Amino acid sequence: MIVAMQELATEDQIDLVIEAMVDAGVGVHRTTGATQTILAGVGPTSSVDLTKFEVLPGVLHVHRISSPYKLAGRGFRPEGTVVEFANGVSIGGARVVVMAGPCAIENEVQIVETAKRVKAAGGSFLRGGAFKPRSSPYAFQGLGIPGLQLMFDAARANGLLVVSEVMEISQIEAMLPLVDCFQVGARNMQNFNLLRELGQVRKPVLLKRGIAATIEELLLSSEYIMSGGNYDVILCERGIRTYETATRNTMDISAIPVVKKLSHLPIVADPSHGTGHREMVAPMARAAVAAGADAILVEVHPNADKAASDAAQTLYLDQFDKLMSELRVIAAAVGRTF
Ligand code: PEP
Ligand code: MN
Repeated sequence: MIVAMQELATEDQIDLVIEAMVDAGVGVHRTTGATQTILAGVGPTSSVDLTKFEVLPGVLHVHRISSPYKLAGRGFRPEGTVVEFANGVSIGGARVVVMAGPCAIENEVQIVETAKRVKAAGGSFLRGGAFKPRSSPYAFQGLGIPGLQLMFDAARANGLLVVSEVMEISQIEAMLPLVDCFQVGARNMQNFNLLRELGQVRKPVLLKRGIAATIEELLLSSEYIMSGGNYDVILCERGIRTYETATRNTMDISAIPVVKKLSHLPIVADPSHGTGHREMVAPMARAAVAAGADAILVEVHPNADKAASDAAQTLYLDQFDKLMSELRVIAAAVGRTF
C-alpha cells in the first residue's frame, strides 16, 4: 500500500500514520520529497482496511498495490482458467460457448421446444430458472425442482448441459444431480453464506455481477467460492444499475477486458438482463464476443411475447438463429472458434 501525505502534513501527522501502519502489521518505508512525504507499506496489506488510513489527518491518498483477492487474481493462474464440462465443452478456452433458454422454466412443451432449437443453432447449455428471484412476491416464482427435472430431461435428450440459478443453501442438494453449473444471480452476489457453501461443492458456479457491484466486489465474491476449494468459477457481466433509464441495466462491456486483466477466471456476458430489450440483445452480444467474452448467456423462448418472466428481453427463436450465425463471424474475426 502507498500513503501519500498532503504537502502541508506535519511531522506529528506523519508519525501518527506510520504508527497506525505498524499497528496493522505493515512494514513502513518513508520517502521524504521536496514537498511531499510518501509512505510505502509492505506486508499483509490485503486484509487491511485502507479507509481507516484515508481519514487520518494529513493524508492525501491511499492506494492498494497488491490485489485484495488472492485466488481470483490473474497472478494466481497467469495462463487463465478453463472450466471443463461434459460433452467436451469448456469455458475459458478458444471456443466461445452459448448458454440459452427461457428466463423461467414454465412447462414441458416450452422447455423441450427451446432445447431442440438451442441445440440445432449450436448452443451448448440450456438455461432456465426453476427458482426465480422476482422483485414482486406476487410474480411467478418458478416451478422449483419438478421444473428443473423437466429442463434436465430436455437438455440431456438434446445433448445439452444445464445451468440454473440457486437462490439458497437449502436448494443445493436437490439441484446437484440436475445441473452442470450452478448460477448465482445478481441479487445473491453478496450472499456470502451461499457463496461459502458453493465453495464446498465440486461443480462449476456461474457468478453474476450484482446490480450495483464493482468489479472488485465481484472478484471478492468469487474468492468466497474459491477459498472453499471450488476453483471452477465463471464470472458474468449482466449489466449494472446506473442513472440511464433507456435500458433496463447498463451493459458494462468494458468489464470484460477489465476482468481479463485482473483475473484468470472466464467471463460470460448476459446481454438479455444487460439491456432488457430484445432488439438490443444481439448488438450487445456481438460487442461482448468482440470484447473477449468466453460465453454468451441469452434468454430465448418459443413464444417470447408470452414468457412468464422477462418477456421484453427474450429473443424469438428466429432472432436467436440469426444471432448465432452473426456470433460465428465475430468470434472468427477475433481469433476464437464458435
Ligand atoms: C436470470 O438469469 O434469469 C436472472 C434472474 O438474472 P440476474 O440475476 O442477472 O438478474
Ligand atoms: Mn431473466
